[in-house]
Amino acid sequence: MALHCFTQLGRKARCKLLLSPSWLFRGPLSAHSSSSSSNTADGFPAGNHLIYTQEHFALRSSLRQIIDKEINPFVDKWEEEGHFPAHQVFKSLGKAGFLGVNRPTEYGGMGLDFSYSTAVAEELGNIRCGGVPMAIGVQSELATFSLARFGSDELKREFLVPAIAGDVVTCLGVSESGAGSDVASIKTKAVRKGDDYIINGDKMWITSGCQADWMCLLANTSEGPPHRNKSLLCLPMKLPGVHVAKKIDKMGMRSSDTAQIFFEDVRVPSKYLIGEEGMGFTYQMLQFQEERMWGAASVLEQLENVVQETIDYTRQRKAFNQPILHNQTVHFCLAELATEIELLRSLLYHAVALYIRGHDVTKFASMAKLKAGRLSREVADRCLQFWGGMGFTNEVLVSRSYRDTRLLSIGAGADEVMLSIICKYMGILPKK
Ligand SMILES: Cc1cc2nc3c(=O)[nH]c(=O)nc-3n(C[C@H](O)[C@H](O)[C@H](O)COP(=O)(O)OP(=O)(O)OC[C@H]3O[C@@H](n4cnc5c(N)ncnc54)[C@H](O)[C@@H]3O)c2cc1C
Repeated sequence: MALHCFTQLGRKARCKLLLSPSWLFRGPLSAHSSSSSSNTADGFPAGNHLIYTQEHFALRSSLRQIIDKEINPFVDKWEEEGHFPAHQVFKSLGKAGFLGVNRPTEYGGMGLDFSYSTAVAEELGNIRCGGVPMAIGVQSELATFSLARFGSDELKREFLVPAIAGDVVTCLGVSESGAGSDVASIKTKAVRKGDDYIINGDKMWITSGCQADWMCLLANTSEGPPHRNKSLLCLPMKLPGVHVAKKIDKMGMRSSDTAQIFFEDVRVPSKYLIGEEGMGFTYQMLQFQEERMWGAASVLEQLENVVQETIDYTRQRKAFNQPILHNQTVHFCLAELATEIELLRSLLYHAVALYIRGHDVTKFASMAKLKAGRLSREVADRCLQFWGGMGFTNEVLVSRSYRDTRLLSIGAGADEVMLSIICKYMGILPKK
């Protein structure tokens, strides 16, 4: 079966195929796969890859077809318009299974381990902007993480199944106007009244907040200590009292809508609580681990594309009678950046390999996230320089990357928060 047929199979068939021992543990490629797919992008046999098998590459190759046909041709338009049609794009990704790779099969997911989500995140880096991959990640990884792990069967049927199928758009509501890095200090409250919670407060910077059908909301459900008084709730966005106040105008990630949202006496049934009351902060911290690895994975291909396009441009662009690439300062710099990207990739694979074996990878995930943010800034900035005036236009990937990847050092825990976590694990963070 050719790999491109993979997504055309029904969901059950895909899961069965990916999970069947013959597919998972086959050695070198059998005759039914195309020969070009037997190698990774670097030309190494897929069987020799640190964390990816042939099945990871099959998944990536199927996703690449959707990206090339249904996403990349429209990215410039979506960037200009300041949003992308999330319902339409997610339907297509959901149909092919990409919104539930790491989610249980009973709810429409593929039931695969996190290395497959990493492979998907890497491939999404080939989308020619950061906004669309970010919104996909919010849907497939962030907003549904706790629901899939800790939610009741009833809740999963109501909210998780349509999210995986791509029938709805979801968002994650953690940050507030007064609390971003310091998640414990959020102020939004969900007060229990009879069989309902009454929600009041605000959420800020909410990705896909203008289009979302439901939000995974973090709110204070009691007056107790800040790490034990929070809960996660599934909050339908069309309820009375949910006000999407504004779409935030941003310097980058232009195609992703980002909202500020207010809640005024919003009433949700108590059965919409995810897992146990008071465990929301803990669930959220668990989710951040995956988010940080996913974020690092999602940027690798984009950085490589920026370096490659810079090589292509500087090879044909001449100054002082020679290609710009022939200046040692230019080609050495590009070689250095390529080396750094490879180092980040190795760190990420190390973290993912340990994670899927059940280890606590908080330190490595934080290191990968920190490095991904800093390296993205460096790659975009140094490459942009070699494009001269062209790098300052909106017509090239490097300038979009310069604007989009800047977020990586801020969102999902700023660089300084990552450094604090790493210090804690090194035993050098002073006690308060
Ligand atoms: C485009 C975009 C999309 C987003 N999407 C979502 C979303 O979908 N859902 C969601 O909940 N949130 C989302 N966020 C919010 C994001 O996670 C927060 O912006 C981030 O956590 C930082 O919080 P803050 O902006 O309030 O910065 P602040 O907490 O005010 O921090 C500002 C700066 O202070 C410094 N700082 C903070 N803490 C320390 C420290 N301990 N030591 C030293 N320096 C420190 C850092 O440099 C930091 O950047 C998004 C943000 C953006 C911009």
